Amino acid sequence: MSIPFNKPFLSGDEFNFIRDAIESGQISGNGKYTKLCQNFFNEQYGFKHSLLTTSCTDALEMSAILLNIQAGDEVIIPAYTFVSTANAFALRGAKLVFADSSDLHPNLDVQSLEPLINERTKAIVPVHYAGTSVDMKGLMALANTYNLSIIEDAAQAIDNYNDQFEERKALGSFGSLAAFSFHETKNIISGEGGLLAINVNNLKSRAEIIWEKGTNRSAFFRGEINKYGWVDLGSSFLPSEIISAFLYAQLNQIKKIQEKRQAIWSLYDTLLRPELEQFGIQLPYIPAYSGNNAHIYYLVCKNLAQRELIIQALKDKGIHAVFHYQSLHRSPYFKNKHDGRTLPNSDRFSDTLLRLPLYYELESHQIIWICHIIIKTLHGKS
Ligand SMILES: *Cc1c(COP(=O)(O)O)cnc(C)c1O
Repeated sequence: MSIPFNKPFLSGDEFNFIRDAIESGQISGNGKYTKLCQNFFNEQYGFKHSLLTTSCTDALEMSAILLNIQAGDEVIIPAYTFVSTANAFALRGAKLVFADSSDLHPNLDVQSLEPLINERTKAIVPVHYAGTSVDMKGLMALANTYNLSIIEDAAQAIDNYNDQFEERKALGSFGSLAAFSFHETKNIISGEGGLLAINVNNLKSRAEIIWEKGTNRSAFFRGEINKYGWVDLGSSFLPSEIISAFLYAQLNQIKKIQEKRQAIWSLYDTLLRPELEQFGIQLPYIPAYSGNNAHIYYLVCKNLAQRELIIQALKDKGIHAVFHYQSLHRSPYFKNKHDGRTLPNSDRFSDTLLRLPLYYELESHQIIWICHIIIKTLHGKS
């Protein structure tokens, strides 16, 4: 029996919806399925506006253009994240200021951000790691005090919420902008794909223009203007209807997908939490204010050697468990540009965090077997 780290879930309706898109005669972007998906997100999660994109990377790049991020600006981002969070702002010439993770989990340590803010700071980009909410109450207060934009990197955070405010709010509805991913490794997929959520009304029309290559084509098709042209900077950020049709087939099953992933996550947790803490392993920490969308089940090992031991023991049985990010402030591209501050928690998660297989088809007996191998290995038996 071999167990991959990830296996894409298929709802069964993907081909039907793609066929319908093809037969309807429009397969370029911004057609029926794009609108169905965008309406779903607005209604389900309370985003003011939604634009599908070809990736979360693109949604982040759109955000940087939309907020006029430019040379001389500073943007605060966690060091423990995917390169796209950083590239989007570096591409506009901004200076990246990397911040550390919390002791308890890989999300930004919001309490430590204030000293990083100065008059050049324009934005903070929180990443909801493993879909777990960042301390949005602390972060939004900071953003208000210093008049900063918040762009949520919600790549992993679909269908999750935060409870720190009067009413429960979906992740991705806090920042003026939020970026989601539908890459095949995420909970809801379209192969490659993404979403830009726009939560302030005054960014909507320019977002559409940037999305449509810098033209006012969207307004033209709504009949609001009688010709369209080049009115601003932009690029080609919208996915074809074939991708949107695939995504819509997934969205129709989101409840089923999330329930299954949550059951898998809980079984791991039930089996591992009581057994692993004695070995100095930290299990996922979910603050009381955050829901759990079961994107990742991870262990934070005692040290690198312990992580290697577990990876190898699983690999010997054909089970693929993987580590995650390497701190970006120490990356080959950035290490000479970093200001020299140490970011110990980010480095610790780089060396010790391990992700276990988690996908829709993973069966209970496989999870039990994975946990058994981990526990046995830590007890020094093989
Ligand atoms: C997956 C991911 C991205 C990139 O998503 P794409 O859709 O592949 O561009 C960005 N940030 C984080 C935190 C991610 O997990």
